[in-house]
Amino acid sequence: MTGQIEFDWQLSGSGWAICRIADAVAEAKFGVSYCTDALADLLYGLGGMYRSEPVERVSFDLEPVEIRWVLRGVGTGVDVSIYRFADMSASFDAPDADGTVSWRSTQPRSRLVHAVIGAAQEVLQEHGEAGYKARWVRFPFPVAALQDLQRLHLLNDDCDQPHEPFVP
Ligand SMILES: [Zn+2]
Repeated sequence: MTGQIEFDWQLSGSGWAICRIADAVAEAKFGVSYCTDALADLLYGLGGMYRSEPVERVSFDLEPVEIRWVLRGVGTGVDVSIYRFADMSASFDAPDADGTVSWRSTQPRSRLVHAVIGAAQEVLQEHGEAGYKARWVRFPFPVAALQDLQRLHLLNDDCDQPHEPFVP
């Protein structure tokens, strides 16, 4: 676990966002559609990593490709495996092994969650809640999910990186 992790979320157009994740070795980048509340789902999925022996699955709809995050808590780390399936309508119930691995990394939970919180805060700072809703269209900015994750992170992770004050 190197702790070198970058995560970025950019609203790119009406109902689309570019999600990028990278470690020291590889990066993955996806154009995510608003068919699901993707950012909220990822925040809640990461929130699940604070339970014991956690496994969470989060699917992004790339219309038609499915990008499935499988998050697995391993000690103080999180194993992230991102699978790609050709057609979300067909792969909805498919086992992970039917997909192809497009990115995989094990990171300290603290670093991973810190990076995702920071990216979500940047989205909120850049667009505001009204601007987010205008661009993402089907769902509001996930304020509650972000607050929950930040609370869990600050309480449990002993994070040594600077934090922006949370202003919804
Ligand atoms: Zn932090």
